Amino acid sequence: MFDKLKQEYSNCNRCKKLCKSRTQVVFGSGNPNAEVLFIGEAPGANEDKQGIPFCGMSGKVLSELLSSINLSREDIFITNTILCRPENNRNPAKEEVANCKERLDRLIQIMDPKVIVTIGNFATERILGKTGIKSLKGRVFSYLDKKVVPVIHPASYLYSGRNPVMFAEMKGDFEVIRDMLGNQNQQKTLAEF
Ligand code: URA
Repeated sequence: MFDKLKQEYSNCNRCKKLCKSRTQVVFGSGNPNAEVLFIGEAPGANEDKQGIPFCGMSGKVLSELLSSINLSREDIFITNTILCRPENNRNPAKEEVANCKERLDRLIQIMDPKVIVTIGNFATERILGKTGIKSLKGRVFSYLDKKVVPVIHPASYLYSGRNPVMFAEMKGDFEVIRDMLGNQNQQKTLAEF
């Protein structure tokens, strides 16, 4: 089912502008059987070139946050609110988000994750219909019967000039995710000793 969905969207032409601005459809990366699904905003220039979400600077920060709770990129699946890079990194248009809604909802149903993590305001608004990431982050909501935790977008941390207080808060929000997944990963680490 996952492969069929990926195949179906590999040549998607619902958004005329995005078909022109993208190099390729960036469907997602990681483990499709993961218990956690991360959702970002849209592919940027690096992602569009490499075909992998969060493979630039924001991705490095995300990997650090994951490793702070003993997760790696192979333990999660990561996708975006829309699959194609908007020109000049503009915000995705409402119509583009709507065109990609069925794809994301089907992905959520196929993966049936224990936790959905919405990265930043954009993905959070798409999933929860709510704005104001500062007050939503680290709290638990639900969508399609799955638990949802919004987190600050790593790009905001980079824009802040890597504010250490902000990073500590972001780590705290990732601890919420860790606690919802149970302590399997902790046990895996202990067993390695
Ligand atoms: N920011 C996003 O929201 N998604 C990406 O894939 C990369 C950066």
